[in-house]
Amino acid sequence: MRAQPTASHYINGAYVEDTQGPALDVLYPATAETIARLHLATPNIVELAVEAARSAQAAWAKVKPIERGRVLRRAAQILRERNEELSRLETLDTGKALQETLVADAASAAEALEFYGCVIAAERGDHVDLGGGAFGYTKREPLGVCVGIGAWNYPIQISAWKAAPALAMGNAMIFKPSENTPLSALKLAEILTEAGLPDGLFNVVQGAREAGEALISHPATAKVSLTGSVATGKKVMALAGSHMKQGTMELGGKSPIVVFEDADVENAVGGAILGNFYSTGQICSNGTRVFLQEGIRDRFMEKLTERTRKIRLGDPLDPDTHLGPLVSQDQRRRVLDYIEIGKQEGATLHLGGGAPSLQGFENGFYVEPTIFTNVEDHMRIAREEIFGPVMSVLTFRDEDEAVARANGTEFGLAAGVFTADLARGHRVADALQAGICWINTYNLTPLELPFGGVKNSGIGRENALAALAHYSQIKSVYVETGNVESPY
Ligand code: NAD
Repeated sequence: MRAQPTASHYINGAYVEDTQGPALDVLYPATAETIARLHLATPNIVELAVEAARSAQAAWAKVKPIERGRVLRRAAQILRERNEELSRLETLDTGKALQETLVADAASAAEALEFYGCVIAAERGDHVDLGGGAFGYTKREPLGVCVGIGAWNYPIQISAWKAAPALAMGNAMIFKPSENTPLSALKLAEILTEAGLPDGLFNVVQGAREAGEALISHPATAKVSLTGSVATGKKVMALAGSHMKQGTMELGGKSPIVVFEDADVENAVGGAILGNFYSTGQICSNGTRVFLQEGIRDRFMEKLTERTRKIRLGDPLDPDTHLGPLVSQDQRRRVLDYIEIGKQEGATLHLGGGAPSLQGFENGFYVEPTIFTNVEDHMRIAREEIFGPVMSVLTFRDEDEAVARANGTEFGLAAGVFTADLARGHRVADALQAGICWINTYNLTPLELPFGGVKNSGIGRENALAALAHYSQIKSVYVETGNVESPY
């Protein structure tokens, strides 16, 4: 099985290779087979990418917004036409089930390109009356060369969520995918070229921490947008700050789902299952702390157990498979360690917990969907992000207690509330410290709604019109139509 791209990097509208860079083997997580061999960027590759982006950006910023948007919309169309092929590649790269990648990855990337391709023509500044014939106006200017750094769970989606608003706003971008999933961003680059994006505006360089740091600290880059862990976010933000550059940080979470006694139990269970096991639990906004009001606990647990037992692990390319493996051996180790920690801390392992050996996929990085009950707030499995299919179930008595405990975390990415009482739904959503809250559903992230976290879960927002602000800076212009008054 091969998914060999033409070369490792994509710079100035073409594939580029530099075999001096350390080799990077790309594994199919379901079998641990090598599907591609790439090379990490050398300093020369970083220089080439920055130079290409720098030279292309000024002319792109002068292109009429409606024309910039047209290129993005064409790219969205091509992504949709190739969805099947791109989804297979994403499945090979991440291990996520094809059933998911067919609807959630390239499809979401296309939506981002379409959204910004449409709205950018309507972007406008303010006019401010300053009295006496004077007035001011504001305009949003692009930042220049922006750096995007991706996590491994949604590779093509993350690259497009960053590239689309950046390019729409007149910036160039250099994107560094996660070293675990380096392939599909190269496809996005090819497709943008095919859609008519001038060379140099979207470049992909492979690499790990070193390449990321080199791009952030390069004098010709203006901004970094990272999707990654809190620990990485703190380092990246500090580095960007030391160069007085802007940062958007999309980081981790330990989000709560609060289920009240009056909730529709099937919907609440559906939300909790999707919010814990989809993408084999590798989603930043997952609701990994499920708080059940005491009166619904038994009904909820019965349905949850029944539905979780029906989840099919298996061949990610089989359209009937629900869950594939985790992305890597390291990630599987980490998740299994947390399952051990949960047991030692005294939580009850209610379901799963194993690392199954599936026929034909004995070397795959699989972990069963796992549910812990009798979890207490102080336990590590209730406080730390696991990033795998591990749900912690906790119980509560009343609303005030639920809100206080849900907020008792360093994270603040997402939160969910299930209740039939809409007034309570809004009240609780209001009180929850999270960048995105769902009432009676979970983990839906349409392009039209801003996405991002508070507290340690991040800074800035992706998606919606909000993201345009994070890829631009405001220029204020004061216009005087009278005389300059001066005492000298
Ligand atoms: P990670 O933090 O290990 O790596 C993220 C990216 O940062 C990778 O490309 C990596 O090479 C790069 N990197 C690492 N150290 C760096 C440094 N010092 N300077 C510059 N770049 C550096 O994260 P991961 O393990 O790939 O992904 C999982 C994490 O991402 C989880 O915490 C998850 O919650 C988070 N995540 C957040 C969102 C969101 O939108 N909020 C989405 C997906 C994943």
